[in-house]
Amino acid sequence: MNSTLSSIGHGQPQAPKRTAPDAALVAAVAEKSALVMARLNTIIDRHPNVVFANSLGAEDMVLVDMICKDNLPIGIFTLDTGRLNEETYTLLEQVQKHYPNCSFQIMAPDFKLLEPWVREHGINGFYNSVENRKACCQIRKLEPLARVLKGKDAWITGLRAAQSVTRQNMDWEEHDALNNLPKFNPLIEWSEKEIWAYIDLNQVPYNALHDRFYPSIGCAPCTRAITPGEDVRAGRWWWENPETKECGLHKAK
Ligand code: SF4
Repeated sequence: MNSTLSSIGHGQPQAPKRTAPDAALVAAVAEKSALVMARLNTIIDRHPNVVFANSLGAEDMVLVDMICKDNLPIGIFTLDTGRLNEETYTLLEQVQKHYPNCSFQIMAPDFKLLEPWVREHGINGFYNSVENRKACCQIRKLEPLARVLKGKDAWITGLRAAQSVTRQNMDWEEHDALNNLPKFNPLIEWSEKEIWAYIDLNQVPYNALHDRFYPSIGCAPCTRAITPGEDVRAGRWWWENPETKECGLHKAK
């Protein structure tokens, strides 16, 4: 996305409109899209009971579009931590209407784990230490993930290598040791520009926060807008070091 901040009225900063992709970018996106479709079909052949973790970020919306348009037999789920932005819930509803042929499973945290943790640490206790933050992610994300992956053959993510220092050594095909499953990242080599070109070319719905300088969106209290020149994941857990900035869903090699 263009990195120049501009304020419109008294509202939040708005990113300027993206320009239409040029011919070279359109060709690159077409080539990479064909590769992703080939990868998805390979995954289905090898692992028929496969699911896709849709975190509703821009990358995930590209995969949702490809899976739903081609009616690929890949289950789609979202981890609803209970602390997502209103814009993310709006997108979730929009996506359900936009792709009526697809079903979107929504996973909630286990209240038996969450309620005692909140009682002990407070509703925003994740700000108090990295340990607390990771414990909150464990309850709101990792445990529901383990539950949805139980009995599955493999899972798919929208991760890209360029997203952060913790993702640079990831491959398109990995082994998720935590859940003991093959894990696939079919968009691993895509650039941010290519993701947005795909979204624009295919009129894919996306989170309104992306137009307000939120390139990476997680839970509302743990995500803020970035300023021009900052790393795309600088707005996630901004009070921590870059090396600790994963929720544990995606362990670096
Ligand atoms: S991102 Fe923040 S609110 Fe969300 S699960 Fe992790 S610590 Fe909790």
